[in-house]
Amino acid sequence: MFSKFLSYFLFLFFSVICSVLAKENSNIIIDAHLTFQEAIKGTQAPKEVIDSLVLIDVEYFSFDKKLHRGQILIRKNLENDVQHIFQLIKESKFPIKKVVPIVQYNWSDDSSMADNNTSSFNYRKVANKNKLSNHSFGTAIDINPVQNPAVYSDSTISPKGAKYSPLVKGTITEDCFLTKEFKKLGWIWGGNWKSLKDYQHFEKTKN
Ligand SMILES: [Zn+2]
Repeated sequence: MFSKFLSYFLFLFFSVICSVLAKENSNIIIDAHLTFQEAIKGTQAPKEVIDSLVLIDVEYFSFDKKLHRGQILIRKNLENDVQHIFQLIKESKFPIKKVVPIVQYNWSDDSSMADNNTSSFNYRKVANKNKLSNHSFGTAIDINPVQNPAVYSDSTISPKGAKYSPLVKGTITEDCFLTKEFKKLGWIWGGNWKSLKDYQHFEKTKN
């Protein structure tokens, strides 16, 4: 009698757990769900660079306050750092608009920035320069470009029309947890640069 009661109880218990988990899963909004091959399609990067990359899933609350899942292509040795940072982003509910590999924007950094997309790998030159960006190796990340634009010494701003207002949600500042945590892990913040203030940009090129 008792074991019958116990098995009934266990059945009920696990049914509830499963339905809660299923509900939680179904509430996630999927921003990106690509295979690795799809995420690198059409890139100009050489094979050794492609072989050094990994595509990871990340979860975050967007500006709609809902839980989203996106993907980011980064250099393999930075996977732990980036997972750790996104765990903190999720726990703190720091809003991230979306995280989608740049292939979805035909490798156009301008289109990705204008859409407020957070991303890393893109085999491209530094804007207005002739050298390869650290994004070419998946060792730099741009976060919420609309809240955290690049502001050049001649006051031009990328993306166009964006404004850096430290009090607006999703904005990165010197003393916010994101900057502190990235720096603890050895990353550099573009907001600390002198001639160009690249508030969206973090990079870690040395280990
Ligand atoms: Zn950048």
